[in-house]
Amino acid sequence: MERVINFSAGPSILPLAVLHKAQAELLSAQGSGQSVMEMSHRSPVFERILAQAEADLRTLLAIPENYKVLFLQGGASLQFTMIPMNLLKGTKKVDFIHTGEWSKKAIAEAKRFGSVRIVASSEATNFNQIPAFSASDFSEDAEYIHYVSNNTIFGTRLTEFPKLPDSKILVCDMSSDILSKPIEVSRYGLIFAGAQKNMGIAGLTVVIIRDDLLGRVPNLPPMLDYKVQADNSSMYNTPPCFPIYMAGLVFEWLLAQGGLSVMEAKNEAKAKLLYDYLDASPFYRPTVPLAKDRSIMNVCFVSPTPELDAAFVKFAEAKGLVNLKGHRSVGGMRASIYNGMTIENVQTLIRVLDEFVQRQR
Ligand SMILES: *Cc1c(COP(=O)(O)O)cnc(C)c1O
Repeated sequence: MERVINFSAGPSILPLAVLHKAQAELLSAQGSGQSVMEMSHRSPVFERILAQAEADLRTLLAIPENYKVLFLQGGASLQFTMIPMNLLKGTKKVDFIHTGEWSKKAIAEAKRFGSVRIVASSEATNFNQIPAFSASDFSEDAEYIHYVSNNTIFGTRLTEFPKLPDSKILVCDMSSDILSKPIEVSRYGLIFAGAQKNMGIAGLTVVIIRDDLLGRVPNLPPMLDYKVQADNSSMYNTPPCFPIYMAGLVFEWLLAQGGLSVMEAKNEAKAKLLYDYLDASPFYRPTVPLAKDRSIMNVCFVSPTPELDAAFVKFAEAKGLVNLKGHRSVGGMRASIYNGMTIENVQTLIRVLDEFVQRQR
């Protein structure tokens, strides 16, 4: 069977080598005679899978010793609730950088537990840019700062966060760009990401949390308490075994590629190729005007009319390039080009974009 080129924003494309390995091990993982989907999460084979996944993620992101890695469920969306629930204990004030749909949802949840101040927002321009802000804009008494590093829907990314005093706690939603490049984990109090964009499959959420932030609020429901999850090494209950296994395969693949600096160079090159084509085209236009704000994971663009947008999406689909329709709040097209997308795939997209233009003559 021919495989399509899948530009979905999430769940999204996986490296072919990862799928082949999962297929090869499907009926008998590591010589156990069982699939990962069937085995006990307390079995030595699964415990090895979990330990290796954590070790490989620690290597990839150079996670310091004083950070816990948690493998949780509930998606990034449950973190919108768990973060304020676990971190707000004093002033109950949170500072937000508001850059799109995912900060909006996180703001709504934080308001259940405390008060929110929006330090900077790009809502007035339908989130087509990253708003300007500096370290001095944050509240003295906010208990943490929440921002989204890559805005999956609007196709923007925040590359440089101003340097903050050590006392500030920075929380970052990295759902759609984690593992796309190296990061400095020690700058953050908490990093979280749903796995189904750039890390694996749906059903797993990874939380990386500095250990002094565990147990700030007593008596939380155990499943929603980072300390309980950390004390039980993500095995307080049955963890999402197969999604953890799949993420482990992705981590192993990333290490074999040479790690995140190598991935960053590849991702930058893919995005540059596509944006350069779109910028030079008299037909298409990226929806994010400033190059510095443009996501290298989710490339949003339009043709001259919504009718032509729809016609292009259909044209591309007939050629095996699927899920290129943009999110309804932006319109146009969105090409998600995560780690699993090759530069050859992006070249194919550009060829098809060009063929469509020729047809309009
Ligand atoms: C997809 C996404 C989410 C929501 O993820 P779920 O796992 O579906 O809850 C949150 N934040 C960002 C940046 C996303 O891209």
